[in-house]
Amino acid sequence: MNSRASAAEAVVAVDLGGTLTKIAYVARDGTASDIHRVDTLRDEHGVVPPEWLAGLILQTAETRSDLHVVGYGVVVPGIIDMAARSVRVAPNVGWRNIPLGQVLDIETGLPGGIGHDVRAGGLAEWRLGEAAGVDDLLFLALGTGIAGASVVDGRMLQVGGYAGEIGHLHVSVADQHCACGAYGCLETVASAAGVARSYQHTCGVGRSAYEVAELARRGDQAALQAFAVANAGLAEALAAYVVLLAPEVVIIGGGLSGAADLILPEVQQALEDRLSFHRRPRLAIGTLGSDAGVRGAGLLGWDHHLREGR
Ligand SMILES: [Zn+2]
Repeated sequence: MNSRASAAEAVVAVDLGGTLTKIAYVARDGTASDIHRVDTLRDEHGVVPPEWLAGLILQTAETRSDLHVVGYGVVVPGIIDMAARSVRVAPNVGWRNIPLGQVLDIETGLPGGIGHDVRAGGLAEWRLGEAAGVDDLLFLALGTGIAGASVVDGRMLQVGGYAGEIGHLHVSVADQHCACGAYGCLETVASAAGVARSYQHTCGVGRSAYEVAELARRGDQAALQAFAVANAGLAEALAAYVVLLAPEVVIIGGGLSGAADLILPEVQQALEDRLSFHRRPRLAIGTLGSDAGVRGAGLLGWDHHLREGR
């Protein structure tokens, strides 16, 4: 037996972001180690060079001589075709129609899985976290934008990368155009950016969603109003989701989950008021926090490795 065969196996997991990229080693059981962040590199056109990403994976794979790296898993924000391992469009990193899996395989010499950042986060919460053992769930990431990961009858919906865009459901409390071009999308009022914008709209002062949450806890009326609007939008969108797909659990993730105390009780009550015969979902905060995405990336890397063999 050589030293490679006896070394612990891991995949290099990467959660690629527009500003920061998170990297870790993920073991077969989903545990992550050496989680760290680097600044995302962009060229003069704002595009993240895939070769930079490949170099990052290779460098990470070679850093730990005690680990045998069997592959990589990369997750990206955007419309990601997981089956084809390609990126249809990812505005945050400047990509359009990139066969990312093929490029990284060639550049790194490793096999790997490609996925969507929020669906990977949902996968991690489903297999390792708050929703373990549940067959019907929605993972709702409230961050700069809003996206969802839907598990229905024990299967995560992919639909060519187009599933789960719950942030772009129209809700009646939203009265602005969205970055996507449509009018009245949920994420214009219920994302972290949406809460900050609502607060600024009411009192003219710019604050982060984190600061607005602190103010709301101290009874600030404008801050409470910003969360009331966000909660009304969330309740409307979730009621529609429940009618169609009846999740047992809705897991809230993303940066705004830090304000769950201002969101969950109100939204749970509003859902109760709206629904009739429907199954009421339990609302909960994800247990993996901001590491859900990178751990999900690792799970995708392992799935690919175990499916394709070595
Ligand atoms: Zn939109």
